[in-house]
Amino acid sequence: MVDAYTRLVRTAPGRALAARTGLPRPSHLPRRAERPQPVLDPVVVLGSGEGAEQITGTLLGWGADVRRRFAETEHPGSVVIVLDAIERPEDIGPLVLPLAEAMRGLAAGARVVTVSRPAAGQDPSRDAARGGVEGFVRSLGHEMRRGSTANGLLVADGVALDAPSVTGALRFLLSARSAFVDGQLLRIDAAGAALPESWEAPLAGRTALVTGAARGIGAAIARTLAADGARVVLLDVTAAGTELARLANELRGVPVQLDVTAADAGDRLAAFLRERGLRLDIVVLNAGITRDRMFANMAPDRWDPVIAVNIASQISLMRDLLAADAPAAEASGSADAPAAADASAAGRSAAAPVLGDELRVVSLASTSGIAGNRGQSNYAASKAGVMAFVEALAGQLEERGGTANAVAPGFIETEMTRKIPPLQREVARRISSLQQGGLPVDVAEAVAFLASGPAGGVRGQTLRVCGQHMVGR
Ligand code: NAD
Repeated sequence: MVDAYTRLVRTAPGRALAARTGLPRPSHLPRRAERPQPVLDPVVVLGSGEGAEQITGTLLGWGADVRRRFAETEHPGSVVIVLDAIERPEDIGPLVLPLAEAMRGLAAGARVVTVSRPAAGQDPSRDAARGGVEGFVRSLGHEMRRGSTANGLLVADGVALDAPSVTGALRFLLSARSAFVDGQLLRIDAAGAALPESWEAPLAGRTALVTGAARGIGAAIARTLAADGARVVLLDVTAAGTELARLANELRGVPVQLDVTAADAGDRLAAFLRERGLRLDIVVLNAGITRDRMFANMAPDRWDPVIAVNIASQISLMRDLLAADAPAAEASGSADAPAAADASAAGRSAAAPVLGDELRVVSLASTSGIAGNRGQSNYAASKAGVMAFVEALAGQLEERGGTANAVAPGFIETEMTRKIPPLQREVARRISSLQQGGLPVDVAEAVAFLASGPAGGVRGQTLRVCGQHMVGR
C-alpha cells in the first residue's frame, strides 16, 4: 500500500521535481517477505572487549558475514557499535567516528544498532557517557538515508550481551521486521527466557488473543503472530463479525464476538476460553477508537467512549483474566476483583487457568500519547494511560515470569488515519525520518517481537514504531 505522493516521486519526472524543490523522497522499505534473512551482510562490529566478542559470536551463530573494520568492506549492510564499557563522554567518539566516513557507503536499508548500558544514577561521568549514546542514536536516525535506520539497545548492568533478551532484540532491530522503527532506544532489564527452538516459528506452541482483530493493525498483528507459529484467538465487536470470521478462517483461528467495554467482558472471555480449553500466553490489547475534537468543543459523548475502549477496558480485562486464575478465596477477598461474585459463572479457580505463566501482554499506545496532539486530548489521555498501565502491570506480572509492554505507532496507513483531513494527513505522513506512513505489518512485527520468549527481559516499556516521527521524543 503505497500512497499517491510516494508513487509520484518514484517516477523519473517526480524524482527530478522532488530533488529540485527539496520535497521529501521516501525510500522503499523492504519488509520480511522481501528480506527474510536476519541481518543484511556484511556486518561491521565496532568496539573491543568482552561485549564486542559476545555480539560477534551471536552474529556468527546466525551465519552472518562479520567484519571488525570498515576497511574490510565497501558497502556494509549492518553496523553494530558496542559501547558497553564507556566511562567518560570522551570515550564515545573513538568508537562511533569510524562510522562517519562509512555513512555514504552504507547499503540501502542498512541498520545501525548501538549496544550500551543505561545511565544508572551512580557515577556522573559514566552516566553522562551513557546518556550521550542516546543523543547520538536519536540524531543519527534523522540522518540515515535510503530506508536505513539507527536504533540502540540499553542493556542493564549485569545482563550479559549474549543473554537471550539481547540476542532477540538485536535480531529484531537488525532485520527487516523493524523497517519502521527508527531513532529508538530499547531498554533490556533482564536476561530473559531461552531463545526459541526455531527462529522461523518463534511463537510455536503459544496461544495469542488479539482484541480489535477484524481489520487494520489488529488483523496484521493476528496474521504476523500466526505466521510466527501462534494459535490466534480473534476478538472484535459483533458488527465486525463477517470480517472476523473471514480472518479466523484464513488463520485457522478462533473468533470471539465481544465488546471489550461490556461490564462482563473479562468474565465472559474467561468462560469462553475454558469452554474451548484455551490458555493465553500472549494478550494483545489493540482495540481502539478515535473521537477527535478540539478540547473547547469536547463533551462526554466524545471523551468517555475513547477512555472506555482505549484504556479502561484494558484494565478491567486484565484484572478479570488474572482474577479468573486466582484461588477463589483470594479473588473474593481482593478489592481489585469486584467481579468475584460471578466466580461461578467463569468457572473460576477450580477450573484450568486461562493465562499461561510466562504471559506476554502487549498494548497499543500512540505517539499522540507521548507528545500530545491537537484535537486529540481524549485519545492522548487514553494512550498516555496505556503507557503507565503497562509499566504497573509489568511489575505485577514479573513474579510469574510475565511482562507487559506497549507499542506506540506513529502514522500508520489504516482506516483510522484515512479519516484525517487530506492536507493534515499528508503532513503527518511526511514529518518523520522515513518520510512515509508505516504499514500495519510494521506495528505487528514489533508486537510479535515483544510477545516472544526472549523479550522477557523487556519490561513495562513503550516501543515507538513511527519512522522517527518528529512528534515526541
Ligand atoms: P481500526 O479502526 O482500523 O481498527 C480497530 C478495531 O478495533 C476495529 O476492528 C474495531 O471494530 C475494533 N474495536 C473498536 N471498539 C471495540 C470494542 N469496544 N470491542 C472490541 N473491538 C473493538 O484502528 P487501527 O488503525 O487498526 O488501530 C489499532 C490500534 O492502534 C488502536 O488502539 C489505535 O489507537 C492504535 N494506533 C493506530 C494508529 C494509526 O496510525 N492507525 C496510530 C497509533 C495508534
